[in-house]
Amino acid sequence: MTRLARTAGLTDVQQEILSTVRDFVDKEILPVATDLEHRDEYPQRIVDGLKELGLFGLMIPEEYGGLGESLLTYALCVEEIARGWMSVSGIINTHFIVAYMLKQHGTQEQKDHFLPRMATGEVRGAFSMSEPALGSDVSAITSRAVRDGDEYVLSGQKMWLTNGGSSNLVAVLVRSDEGHPEGTPPHRSMTTFLVEKEPGFGEVRPGLTVPGKIEKMGYKGVDTTELVMDGLRIPANRVLGGTTGRGFYQMMDGVEVGRVNVAARGCGVAQRAFELGISYAQQRRTFGKPIAQHQAIQFKLAEMATKVEAAHAMMVNAARKKDSGERNDLEAGMAKYLASEYCKEVVEDAFRIHGGYGFSKEYEIERLYREAPMLLIGEGTAEIQKMIIGRRLLEEYRFQG
Ligand SMILES: Cc1cc2nc3c(=O)[nH]c(=O)nc-3n(C[C@H](O)[C@H](O)[C@H](O)COP(=O)(O)OP(=O)(O)OC[C@H]3O[C@@H](n4cnc5c(N)ncnc54)[C@H](O)[C@@H]3O)c2cc1C
Repeated sequence: MTRLARTAGLTDVQQEILSTVRDFVDKEILPVATDLEHRDEYPQRIVDGLKELGLFGLMIPEEYGGLGESLLTYALCVEEIARGWMSVSGIINTHFIVAYMLKQHGTQEQKDHFLPRMATGEVRGAFSMSEPALGSDVSAITSRAVRDGDEYVLSGQKMWLTNGGSSNLVAVLVRSDEGHPEGTPPHRSMTTFLVEKEPGFGEVRPGLTVPGKIEKMGYKGVDTTELVMDGLRIPANRVLGGTTGRGFYQMMDGVEVGRVNVAARGCGVAQRAFELGISYAQQRRTFGKPIAQHQAIQFKLAEMATKVEAAHAMMVNAARKKDSGERNDLEAGMAKYLASEYCKEVVEDAFRIHGGYGFSKEYEIERLYREAPMLLIGEGTAEIQKMIIGRRLLEEYRFQG
């Protein structure tokens, strides 16, 4: 099913990577995704396969053992993977954000230490901003770091870490007052720490506990956790970039590319929902003909396909903008907003086309129906995207009168 969501102007290398990933999704992910999801089972075999394909190092520069590919290549791979199973794209997404932040903001020592092992998937990243009392309002973070000689002592509670259990490196954003006088704006007194830990649950490092998996309505298989820091000692050379007070900007940079990634996931899930809907509509008969022959269903399919195309075009535009070195917060915000909303709508239409069977766990659309809502929230809710879009528009179209 390739008529929709094609991307013009790809290089031979990009096309080859995508066709390999598409093949992997069709053979290794789609046949097992729904069973694994129903059992909430971590897809270890799939993750091993992704490692072999080099996907954990897709955007890591070649000098560190990665493939050195663009954000566009990465986003198109994510779209394919999410078409197979959204949770698998979640497994690589936080890893990708942490690798990106290291590449952009890390010291040379930090890059040398982490990136080669991240490229092979030996080191796996999670990133942590949210806390129990905040998600959208990152400036309200209360977790803190206090300097003690050559170390920092971290305390506080974090919430909603995708890959919090399976990762062994977490980029954690906390408040650090050292060197920042009273009255410094919150976003200038935050620091990202690179916290290494054992994978798993319980006390994973002295002073650091991952209590267990949060039970979720969808997005299963991938672990989502809390993180409790209580006297966690981190050496000063594990401050991302070596200087405190830059964490907010580093994280926002990471989230910006993460938004393209979430948009790509929305595109992938919507494509799969469309595939399922158009296939079912030609098999199910009512009133003497396939339901696809009823105009109301054809209109639904037309709307779904239009949304798939529009979301894909915006996602590709946002990725290309970042790859060209330009600021892309406006495009990434729009793409994330539109793709996640359209994804929810396309999934709902495919669900309706399935009639009662859409409600049965035997049909894949049931899983998609529980997965799509996560995209409305992760990397910033629709309201937060609209705030970003609105502010940028007012900058661009400043009234000159
Ligand atoms: C499955 C899952 C995985 C996640 N993974 C991660 C992760 O890996 N790392 C991480 O750091 N976080 C992660 N998150 C957290 C996620 O980023 C937050 O849930 C999200 O940013 C929203 O924050 P919140 O849940 O605190 O909602 P709130 O910020 O409390 O918002 C509640 C509602 O109020 C609205 N709202 C908030 N402020 C405004 C405003 N100014 N104007 C208008 N409306 C507003 C919101 O849009 C929302 O509808 C994850 C969340 C989920 C569900």
